[in-house]
Amino acid sequence: MNFGQIPGNNNVKKQLSLAVEHDRISHAHLFCGDDGSSNLAMAWAFAKYLSCQDRKESDSCGQCSACLKQSKLSHPDVHWVFPVTTGKGANPTSDMFIEDFRSFMLEQPFPYELDWNQKIGAANKQVFIGVKESSELAKKMILKPYEGSYRIVIIWQAHKMHAPAANKLLKLLEEPPEKTIFILVTSEKDQLLDTILSRVQSTDISAINDQDMNNYLNLNFELETSKRERIMLLSSGNLGQAIKMCQDQDRSVSLAPLFQSWMRISYAAKIPELSRWIDSFVKLGREEQKEFIQYGLHMVRECLVYNFGPSQLQRLNDQELSFCKKFAPFINENNAESIIEEFESAFAHITRNASTKIVFMDLSLRLVLLLRTKSLTLQKSINQ
Ligand SMILES: [Zn+2]
Repeated sequence: MNFGQIPGNNNVKKQLSLAVEHDRISHAHLFCGDDGSSNLAMAWAFAKYLSCQDRKESDSCGQCSACLKQSKLSHPDVHWVFPVTTGKGANPTSDMFIEDFRSFMLEQPFPYELDWNQKIGAANKQVFIGVKESSELAKKMILKPYEGSYRIVIIWQAHKMHAPAANKLLKLLEEPPEKTIFILVTSEKDQLLDTILSRVQSTDISAINDQDMNNYLNLNFELETSKRERIMLLSSGNLGQAIKMCQDQDRSVSLAPLFQSWMRISYAAKIPELSRWIDSFVKLGREEQKEFIQYGLHMVRECLVYNFGPSQLQRLNDQELSFCKKFAPFINENNAESIIEEFESAFAHITRNASTKIVFMDLSLRLVLLLRTKSLTLQKSINQ
């Protein structure tokens, strides 16, 4: 991963390369960005830049032996730490999962934590960075770097550190070994200990703008223009999400983000935005539109289960569950039945070849009213 392979965040890349050029590198960094953002890729590119033997002004050379090892995540002076799970022993460490992690990162360098959890068979289990990890790290710090340049420790999802692990790491941050750079990466900055936060130089990795996203998708995926633009709009600058949508082979776009954005716009009653959403949506085929309505019915029922039923009946993935938590308060005993009826009626109209644009505009406007009238006290959470 080079800086040049990461779209956007040019100011961050510039700051990092200037710091290296002027030899003013902080020994502990924290890269904060959403799950699925380029926060981890940025840490990787920075590590590569630090170890490159033929550094260019703003990027690593990509050709030297250090760069080649970095590209395979096999540089001996780069220590990767990430959340793991039990199964390979009671005190698992990242080294036990490094092969999995390499293939995971080489496949998709803008990852979601949930995808990693699934990769290591922990979709429904706790993942964590345990105290044994920090002890092992401390031992590694005693040895000299193999290649004489920087030693780099990258800790992905640093907020998953158990408290004893974080406290041990803190000792390393307080008395950093020579020529050692720590790069912590997180999507949940507020879950990190204040004592850690006070020891690191924090950098925000932003969502990327539409133009950068469009260029990235254009370079990396073969998509029709309309599909590319839809993914660009729906992914809201999150690379991991955009890639997921591009890779979704079964559906032209993944239904969950499409449904979630529709509900947000409807609730906010942003009519021009709603109109644009519908213009874009009706380009989908009729069968996909029907599937979408069925998905909507499924989500409304899941919200009812969330509100009133036992949690073991919930059939959602983690991302959907997190949306459901925010959305469920707007589905209540007063409006659920009407919303379900509206969805079923729209489904019937589409089956009977009605104009899908009119059906969806009509349905959306009804939802605007249904979602808002019953939920005035709960407006806050859906926009968060
Ligand atoms: Zn190089």
